[in-house]
Amino acid sequence: MTKQHLHLYLAAPRGFCAGVDRAIKIVEMAIEKWGAPVYVRHEIVHNKFVVDSLRDKGAIFVEELAECPDDRPVIFSAHGVPKSVPTKAQARNMIYVDATCPLVSKVHIEAERHHKNGLQMVMIGHDGHPETIGTMGQLPEGEVLLVETPDDVKTLRPRDENKLAFITQTTLSVDDTAEIVTALKSRFPNIIGPHKEDICYATTNRQEAVKAVAPTVDALLVIGAPNSSNSRRLVEVGAKAGCKYSQLVQRANDIDWRALDGIKSIGITAGASAPEILINEVINAFEQRYDVTREIVETAVENVEFKVPRVLREAS
Ligand code: SF4
Repeated sequence: MTKQHLHLYLAAPRGFCAGVDRAIKIVEMAIEKWGAPVYVRHEIVHNKFVVDSLRDKGAIFVEELAECPDDRPVIFSAHGVPKSVPTKAQARNMIYVDATCPLVSKVHIEAERHHKNGLQMVMIGHDGHPETIGTMGQLPEGEVLLVETPDDVKTLRPRDENKLAFITQTTLSVDDTAEIVTALKSRFPNIIGPHKEDICYATTNRQEAVKAVAPTVDALLVIGAPNSSNSRRLVEVGAKAGCKYSQLVQRANDIDWRALDGIKSIGITAGASAPEILINEVINAFEQRYDVTREIVETAVENVEFKVPRVLREAS
């Protein structure tokens, strides 16, 4: 049977970012340095495949520090942790390595600087996401007010409307965040903030690439985990950019082939925590069913790299 032709547009950049790459290396190097098991507080990055492979190498994933023994090293995930977490680890004399992405740490520092200057913070982020919990946990309770939508801005009750600054989660939708920032600036004209927002280069670049692909394809698949904020934003950005079928898949097994029946073109991208091996698996699945012409749609070139903490660079 002859295969139907399919034009496959591969968005670039896609997949792993420098922060995810660094966090995974930190766990691998920690296991090499201290031997297994090494504990990891929360999924090091939001991807089951990555977590399972690290588990096979000797990582034990837990949600809270209280679940770790005192005498084994613990790694804090790329999303960042509230200040109380390293404080508790120190009090227990534990070895810990912080795999918080340096771009998330930058937001933590920003929040602290504003706090020292007497400003109350407004954080644009998703309630309950570990990055939001970590960033809000840099300051005492009540010092960071969370907003998720422009409507939330209307009901904010700050201590002093003239002493406010805003920060954002790094993995938000650039366009949705711009709306919230506009709402904040219009209600609180003296609010201080970063130049645009704190959304990181990787999130921004992946969303731009999706915007270039989505309007021209019959369907868009985003490879990523359901709890990955930046992957879910890519699905939304794809739909907003005009793609009628924009879906999240964790790997090839999740593809709903019936829903894709009759398509002539497909766009493929991946969230910042999805490894290339899963992207290739999805592409291969299409190549088995279709006569595929591949085209890369590249909207930015990335060459960001972050060093691992010194403790891991030192010889064992
Ligand atoms: S998505 Fe951005 S902030 Fe998050 S780990 Fe990657 S580079 Fe860092």
